[in-house]
Amino acid sequence: MTTVGRLEVICGPMFAGKTTELIRRLRLHADSGEAVLAVKPARDTRYGAGALRSHARDSFIALEMHGAGELLTLAVQAGIIGIDEAHFFGADLAGPVAALVASGKRVIISGIERDHRGRPFPPFPDLLCEADEVLKLATVCARCGAPAIHSHRLFENDDPIAVGGPGEYEARCRVCFRAGA
Ligand SMILES: [Zn+2]
Repeated sequence: MTTVGRLEVICGPMFAGKTTELIRRLRLHADSGEAVLAVKPARDTRYGAGALRSHARDSFIALEMHGAGELLTLAVQAGIIGIDEAHFFGADLAGPVAALVASGKRVIISGIERDHRGRPFPPFPDLLCEADEVLKLATVCARCGAPAIHSHRLFENDDPIAVGGPGEYEARCRVCFRAGA
């Protein structure tokens, strides 16, 4: 029987529950006995190494990956591959992910699809195009309570890749995001 690969993308602003949803899906596969690999960026050290961790304190054992080039080697034994905070890996992640899907693996990716200025955040333009399934999560605007789709940065730094948590970023709706400050 042919094994058909699949790409699932979970995206949205910070604090929308993306990692929680990724962990939920990975647990379902692990509980049914499938070989699951979870990876996260080595530079994302907010809540400690060795596991995916959500803001809600859910966790799932994960390997740390320094760059997208390591993915194919790490994933050799796995049928299900979960990747958290995919925006940290940049555009280089799209090729290895497509190769895994083409080889019959199921890849589930979580991350922020827009940067702190609201621009498309690589590798999400490519991943969203390639995906079999997309889940866009929203949360509540920190300013007005409307549905929030943006991650507003509260500190001065124009590097799109800058780690932060509550106090450094705020989820905002379209209107409050445009208003800035
Ligand atoms: Zn708002």
